Amino acid sequence: MAMPLAALHDLRRLLVCPRCRAELAMEPDGFRCTAADCAHHRDGAFPLAGRWPVLVDFERSVVNLDAVTTQGAGGRAERLPAPLRRLVKPPNRVAARNVELLLRALPGPAPRLLVVGGATVGNGIGAVYRDPRLEVIGFDIVGSPFTQFVADAHQIPLPSACVDAVVVQAVLEHVLDPPGVVAEIHRVLRQDGLVYAETPFLQQVHAGAHDFTRYTASGHRHLFGRFEELGAGAVAGPGTQLLWSVDHVVRSLTRSPTAGRGVRALLFWLRALDRLAPPDFAQDDASALYFLGRRRERGMPPEEVIRYYRGAQ
Ligand SMILES: [Zn+2]
Repeated sequence: MAMPLAALHDLRRLLVCPRCRAELAMEPDGFRCTAADCAHHRDGAFPLAGRWPVLVDFERSVVNLDAVTTQGAGGRAERLPAPLRRLVKPPNRVAARNVELLLRALPGPAPRLLVVGGATVGNGIGAVYRDPRLEVIGFDIVGSPFTQFVADAHQIPLPSACVDAVVVQAVLEHVLDPPGVVAEIHRVLRQDGLVYAETPFLQQVHAGAHDFTRYTASGHRHLFGRFEELGAGAVAGPGTQLLWSVDHVVRSLTRSPTAGRGVRALLFWLRALDRLAPPDFAQDDASALYFLGRRRERGMPPEEVIRYYRGAQ
């Protein structure tokens, strides 16, 4: 796959200290902050893990250096044969449609797009990596062929107003402070920059200790209050939600995740029920929600959040 992933070499001038946002100085085996009064103004402050600079402020992060260097990207579903994989994890057509809208709305000859949590290519967002117009920057808490550096989304090591779009798919449930991460996304976006987010609503805990939050449609809208809405809705509706629930009931009764996944593969057709649910009911019972928006300065007053509700109640 031809990838418009920007070379780390070209990005180096762009990277900043995750704590104070001063420029970085290159060292033989990593980077350090150039600000004399910063705690990271010391040799070896930001080491390399393989070829990935680790631009993490470990004192202020749940990211752990050992995990950065030992964890691989890619879940269990990626190791299954393709037909089975499609049953367990079908293609995300909602994301594909929305990413197409996002790419079409991006101006200029070489827009820069940041993928937050991009260690694996997210379901349905492959077009991002196929658009030759784009300069793609990716980071995650582990290195991967799809990222140029390791970082914590709470402290993005990029200067303000430097990217035209941000994609953040199935990430915000895994951060301790989602409003803080969205503020960082807002900060690194240029004026009128675009964001595409997908976040779970009714899903069981995944990724164990690193799963913290769920959002309703109204909560998700409020989270992106400093963005104008271009689109929002359910990524997957009540059928998908039911399928996941059955899987997890089976897991808990049999104490076996494999049994749960087996039942999920057998009952894959429950997903088709999503298509029968009207958008208002789907929103109240979604497995996950999306938000496509354009950066703006003003926030969203509380009464506007209340008026926003478009569910079936
Ligand atoms: Zn610094």
